[in-house]
Amino acid sequence: MRKHLLFREVNLRIHELTGPEGVMSGWRETLGEAVDYACECADLGCTAHVPLTRDKFAEIVENPDYYVVAPGHYPGYAEIIERELDYAVVMIRGDARVPARVP
Ligand SMILES: [Zn+2]
Repeated sequence: MRKHLLFREVNLRIHELTGPEGVMSGWRETLGEAVDYACECADLGCTAHVPLTRDKFAEIVENPDYYVVAPGHYPGYAEIIERELDYAVVMIRGDARVPARVP
């Protein structure tokens, strides 16, 4: 599985846990407005966190080709959609998500 798909799963879980029904629903008092999501770049060793509001994350994942990454963590095959101070949104199309074949 490509790393951004794995970390998308992690982020969806974070999103669920910080939601009104989640065990971390009190996040606003401890974390402030933004939740720390995981960087969805291609680097398996990357442990960067990306501060986003829950609303912004929900907006990004509405498009299945959009991923959120830390600034500068752009996979070479990704197109940059939005660049902010704390995060960037990149587009990784379906065919790029398929691991390359070993020749
Ligand atoms: Zn990263």
